[in-house]
Amino acid sequence: AKSVKLENVTKTFTDDQGKSTHAVDHINLHIKEGQFTTLLGPSGCGKTTTLRMIAGFEDLSEGNIFFGDENVKQIPANKRDCTMVFQSYALFPHMTVYDNICYGLRLKKLSKQEIDKRVTPIMDIMNLHVNANRMPNKLSGGQQQRVALARALVMEPGVLLFDEPLSNLDAKLRVTMRDEIRRIQKKLGITAVYVTHDQSEAMSLSDQIVVMNAGKIEQVGTPMEIYQQPTSKFVSDFIGTANFLDGKVESTTNEKLTVQTKDSKLDVYQENAIEFKEGQSVSIVVRPEAIIIDEQGTEKAKVTKSVFMGHIQEYEVDYSGVSLYAIVADPGGKQTYSAGDEVSVRFSQAVVACSACF
Ligand code: ADP
Ligand code: MG
Repeated sequence: AKSVKLENVTKTFTDDQGKSTHAVDHINLHIKEGQFTTLLGPSGCGKTTTLRMIAGFEDLSEGNIFFGDENVKQIPANKRDCTMVFQSYALFPHMTVYDNICYGLRLKKLSKQEIDKRVTPIMDIMNLHVNANRMPNKLSGGQQQRVALARALVMEPGVLLFDEPLSNLDAKLRVTMRDEIRRIQKKLGITAVYVTHDQSEAMSLSDQIVVMNAGKIEQVGTPMEIYQQPTSKFVSDFIGTANFLDGKVESTTNEKLTVQTKDSKLDVYQENAIEFKEGQSVSIVVRPEAIIIDEQGTEKAKVTKSVFMGHIQEYEVDYSGVSLYAIVADPGGKQTYSAGDEVSVRFSQAVVACSACF
């Protein structure tokens, strides 16, 4: 496995009318050896273009890409130590499953024995032996994607690239396949770069998530960091569900921000508090499960909606003109409230994010 480093990587497309699009805009990124990294963001934010530059399918307008210590910028795609798995599977329709999987190894002129030695264990872990002699069009979508993955894995690439590989599968199979991808990647210790717009895929697969927006990186972190400490409204809104309380920073200390919202003054404790400036417009981000609803607090609110879902109780509460969405887990044994009830809200966890970044 190899590490991957992107240094100032930029791609500008220019159309016939001379109009240019900054598809990827000066991004810097370090992907550690054996790590599973996901590029996550809305459609058009530059994920595929970034991946294609790593693969060598697309030239860079600016910047450099390193595999380990080697600058691969000038190395053509077929000479780079990486393989891509596509959404469309891209299997050869006239070849059996076995021949599809062996294709790249035969191109490398490996002997029949050497090929068998590499292919057999991969077909074992992926349960593909029963289908070895079938043609791809006789297989389900999930099985075809498994063949595409096996074909990439037998190449033992230093870097394995995925572009939305599960998008064509139904919801249930997507979950099964992503668990399988993660299991195999861990087992083989491969460096993986995975592109998706699906936050649950990114959360469940990744060691590191790279949130992209309009050609730029918004935030890099573990799934937990991205969820619990989003640095912008964009990130907190794109991953999970977030409530926002907008306000202005009144004061900061090393570990605490005091924010003046419309009707309240709220203290938020966080590490980077000192980086905010007095008077700066910010948003307090509160996850639905971090809202505590009872009658003991000073922050008054009114329940506008209450729905019992079995495992959770869903609430909407009006808190000084802002509608907050809250969920309470395991509501069976707890005091519940109904629409119209006067309550108070507190936040077990909150983070201040820069609202200008939205
Ligand atoms: P994503 O994979 O995140 O959906 P892409 O990397 O495919 O995004 O595209 C990023 C931006 O670059 C989009 O605005 C897209 O229209 C543009 N783009 C991508 N490929 C080309 C191309 N070959 N020519 C011109 N513009 C392109
Ligand atoms: Mg794409």
